[in-house]
Amino acid sequence: MSEQASPLPLPKSRTHLPEGERAWSPEAVHILAKPTGAICNLGCSYCFFLDKELLYEGDQFRMSDEMLDEYIKSLIDQHKVPQVNIAWQGGEPTLMGLDFYRKSIEIAQKYKKPAMSFLHTMQTNGTLLNDEWCEFFAENNFLIGISIDGPRELHDAYRVNKRGEGTFDKVMRGLRLLQKHKVEYNVLTTVNHMNGSYPLEVYRFLRDEAGTDWMQFIPVVERVDEHGNPADLRGNHASERSVGAKQFGNFLITVFDEWVRNDVGSVFVQTFEASGRNWAGMESSGMCVFNETCGAGLALEHNGDLYSCDHFVDPEFKIGNIADTSIDELVSGQQQYQFGQDKLTDLPQYCLDCDVRFACHGECPKNRFITTPDGEPGLNYLCAGFKDFFHHIDRPMRTIIDLIQSGQEASLVMDMLARQEQPWAEALQTAGRNDPCPCDSGRKVKHCHGAPARPDAIKPLPDQLGTPRDPVTARGIRAAATRNDRDLG
Ligand code: SF4
Ligand code: SF4
Repeated sequence: MSEQASPLPLPKSRTHLPEGERAWSPEAVHILAKPTGAICNLGCSYCFFLDKELLYEGDQFRMSDEMLDEYIKSLIDQHKVPQVNIAWQGGEPTLMGLDFYRKSIEIAQKYKKPAMSFLHTMQTNGTLLNDEWCEFFAENNFLIGISIDGPRELHDAYRVNKRGEGTFDKVMRGLRLLQKHKVEYNVLTTVNHMNGSYPLEVYRFLRDEAGTDWMQFIPVVERVDEHGNPADLRGNHASERSVGAKQFGNFLITVFDEWVRNDVGSVFVQTFEASGRNWAGMESSGMCVFNETCGAGLALEHNGDLYSCDHFVDPEFKIGNIADTSIDELVSGQQQYQFGQDKLTDLPQYCLDCDVRFACHGECPKNRFITTPDGEPGLNYLCAGFKDFFHHIDRPMRTIIDLIQSGQEASLVMDMLARQEQPWAEALQTAGRNDPCPCDSGRKVKHCHGAPARPDAIKPLPDQLGTPRDPVTARGIRAAATRNDRDLG
């Protein structure tokens, strides 16, 4: 596949803009506000937020009413477009209590400009939800992101409370409450070393048992030093809990293969949607990590400190405090502009020469801590997996984009694949393990379509996980286009 031209303009010079002048003027920013700082009621083993408490040692970790007012006013003032996303995250944001969010709605209404509308979002572990919370969410059209890592045995591997006990039952209870009250929600699944080996089990669980049609898969990459100690942005190794690069590639490929045969148009997987946008050459993928540059997705601490990104809550990346300087001024300054441009300008040559750069863009700078085959630093730890994934989806993605661009439903790709695969799927029933695979790949059956779903799936399942269910077919087709831009980060 040849490299495609990037849809985004090249960055301006890194140094020509005088300090104090606007370096850029994004029409809108997406700020993840942490009203409880890093404080959470759970103790998930891999959580990169927990040690952020040390940044504010001795603090109360509660956003004051004055700061809440200041924040929403400043956020609205920054926006040059009518839709404003007010996004809450943590830690665990429900620890603030419902009254805090009732006030946030009132304040947004107080400063609302003509024709302005709000999208209120919250990322939560779901364990503290009750009917009152869900009624409030439904009344105010909140979009809720709820974190579930798969079926019980996989979810409970790392998502535990402070006593180390699994949280699956409480999270599922929260999910059912959201469903009962018809609250709009997404599921966010972090892919780690454990559940990363069970892509079908995770995907089918989320689709068939959790009953969600909107999923995000976020790779867990915990940076540690050579002794395995947490080292956040300065570690050059990945912890044992982190998903492996090839493992993550296999995870995405396996889920994609299931999705593209059964669920196009009825299940929305954020990574696939972003890929489709990049294949179609759209201006933005909808996911910062797969865009050429970034810088419009920031993080706000409970005390008003504004950081370049949620993954860079670190003194070096603090751009100011919104009590002293408006969000608009802070965001449009040289420091934040530069942060976003560095995503492109710091790419190693290996990425610049990569045939799938148009889709990957080196992913997130947070994960760029290994060296390229020729020794240049700054390669993404997940590179090998992304290369596999983006190469794997090339043909079906092109088909999907062709369908859409010719005015047809993307879901037709499922019928096309079924027709193509029917002859060899039948031949596969009688083929021996050492015969050439009927799909004409040139590989033996046992290494191709006669192999277990993915090499990693050969491992025995954890106790009680059960066997995968049959793929669903003929699910209803429902447009998901209205949700494309609702990236909870
Ligand atoms: S640093 Fe990574 S997560 Fe943050 S805005 Fe850039 S790409 Fe997105
Ligand atoms: S990280 Fe790997 S797959 Fe991504 S652009 Fe760089 S070389 Fe290509």
